[in-house]
Amino acid sequence: MEGILLRRYGGFYYVESGGQVWTCRLRGRFRREADLLPGDRVEMVPLGPGEGVIEALKPRRTLLERPAVANVEQAIIVFSLSTPPPDLELLDRLLFLSGVKDIQAIIVWNKVDVAREEYRDLPGIYRQIGYSNLIASARTGQGVEKLREVLAGRLSTFAGPSGVGKSSLLNALQPELNLRTGEVSAKGGRGRHTTRHAELIRLPGGGWVADTPGFSRLDLPSLDRLEVAGYFREMEPLIGRCRFNSCLHRGEPGCAVAAAVEAGEIARHRYEHYLNFLAEVIARERSY
Ligand code: GDP
Ligand code: ZN
Repeated sequence: MEGILLRRYGGFYYVESGGQVWTCRLRGRFRREADLLPGDRVEMVPLGPGEGVIEALKPRRTLLERPAVANVEQAIIVFSLSTPPPDLELLDRLLFLSGVKDIQAIIVWNKVDVAREEYRDLPGIYRQIGYSNLIASARTGQGVEKLREVLAGRLSTFAGPSGVGKSSLLNALQPELNLRTGEVSAKGGRGRHTTRHAELIRLPGGGWVADTPGFSRLDLPSLDRLEVAGYFREMEPLIGRCRFNSCLHRGEPGCAVAAAVEAGEIARHRYEHYLNFLAEVIARERSY
C-alpha cells in the first residue's frame, strides 16, 4: 500500500494510507533513519490492526530544509496588511525561493480586518505579476473557506515572518487542533527551544500542512547569475528581448527589463529586489 509519512517519533513512523493512520517500523533496508521525512511517499505493508512496516521510499519531488519536509507542493506565504508591516523584500525572496524549488506560491494577505490604507494596493500588484493572492482575516474568518479550498488535497507549508497570523490561520482552519505555536509541545514535552522535526497535520477538508513554517533558511541557492531574472515572473517573458544575450538587466544598453521598469510595467521595488538577489547570487559564485 502506498502512504504518506505524517510524522516520526521514537523509532515509529506514522503513515497515512487508505484514510487511516498506521504506526510503522522500518524494514531495515534503509541506510539511515534520517532518510525518511514527513511528506515522503512510502510503500507500506500492514502487519496488524493499525500497524505496519515501511518497505520502500518513493522518489521525492521536492525537499525543503529546516524544517525538513519532502514533497511540499505549495507554500502559503502569509503577510499582514497591518502589523507587522509587510517586508516586501522578504516576500519577494520567499516567492523567488518557491520558484527555485518549483513549489507553487500563494500569497495570503492576513489581518484585512485592521488593514492599513498604505498597503491596500499590494494584493493587486502581486496579482498582476501572476501570483495567486488571497485576502484573509483569521480574526473574522474572511478568506478562511477559500484558503481551505486552496489547501484541499495537497501538501502545503506556511511561510512568512512571525506575528503575521500563520498559526491563527491554521487554527481557524482546524479549530479542534489549537496549535500552540512557540509553546511547549505536549508530545514528549519537547521545549520551545528544542529543534524538532516537522509533522504533517491532516486537514479536515483534505490535504496536509506542515506544522512548522517552512523556508527558515533564506539564503539563495547557488544559481547561474543569468537564471535569476527567470524567477521574477514579470521579467521572465522579457528575457531574450534585451540587446545582449548575456544581459543581467543592471544598466546594459538596450535592456528590455530596464525599459519595462521605466514604463512602469515592472514595480520598482521588484526590480530593486532583483538587483539585490542578483548581487547575492554573484557573491555566492565567487565564494566557491
Ligand atoms: P504567527 O507568528 O505568524 O503564527 O502569528 P500568530 O498567529 O501568532 O498571530 C500574531 C498576532 O496577530 C496574534 O496576537 C493574533 O491574535 C493576531 N492576529 C492573527 N491574525 C489576525 C487577524 O486576521 N486580524 C487581527 N486583527 N489580528 C490577527
Ligand atoms: Zn536586460
